[in-house]
Amino acid sequence: MNNEQQSYQLGAREESGRYPVKVGGITAGYIYRRHGSWYSVMPGHRTDGRCADRHAAAQALVHLINQGQRPTVPPQSTRPHTPTALARATASYTYLIPDLRPTLANLVRAAEAMARLAELGWSPLAGYPGADQPWMMQCRLCGWEGRRFWSHLRGRNGDLTPRPITRHPGCLPVADHEEAIQKVTAEQATRCECPFTHPTSVPQALDVLKSIQAARGTRHDARAILFSRAILEPCPASTNRAKALRSALGLISSQK
Ligand SMILES: [Zn+2]
Ligand SMILES: [Zn+2]
Repeated sequence: MNNEQQSYQLGAREESGRYPVKVGGITAGYIYRRHGSWYSVMPGHRTDGRCADRHAAAQALVHLINQGQRPTVPPQSTRPHTPTALARATASYTYLIPDLRPTLANLVRAAEAMARLAELGWSPLAGYPGADQPWMMQCRLCGWEGRRFWSHLRGRNGDLTPRPITRHPGCLPVADHEEAIQKVTAEQATRCECPFTHPTSVPQALDVLKSIQAARGTRHDARAILFSRAILEPCPASTNRAKALRSALGLISSQK
């Protein structure tokens, strides 16, 4: 092992699933695992796609630092933990609970919006706030974090082109977007293979929605939050999950 291969420190896993990486005392960025592969991000820079293990992902950041690169966007600070059992059990997704009444319809809208964000190369950093409210998110092409309107990203009046076309000030050149989006969305899958199963079939989606419905408004309200994990947690199969949830919600509505 040469010097370069040893010179990083991996921090503890953050609530969002990232592991901060320091190189020679410099905060270089973070790595994360998704769908069996590891990825590295230095905010403000392009990093190459998937890596086989966390060491290779961290090495990509060591390499950038050794080249003289530095993050140009400050890494997101860690959210404070609330030391309750519920907070611990829901640590991976409670920050994604919609900033709306937690009805089944709003949970399904949130799942649809998050699925489309994933297709467009964005990661939500807060719960779905509704179509016309600013939504905190991260650009996965370059690490930029800021607020975008869902109504602008999903398109309007039949035009599905996300606006602005430049994504945000300081992003990669528009000509590079398509390739960069393909790179960051390469991890997307049709089926969920996560350790915790997310619903990607209509029967699975029905089961989750009915469990939430049964727990809501009772003294088991906290369980509704626990069950919403299946809907809100990041999943490589988020597009199929959103479709299954939409169909299941239609079935529940027609049974009323
Ligand atoms: Zn960007
Ligand atoms: Zn999944």
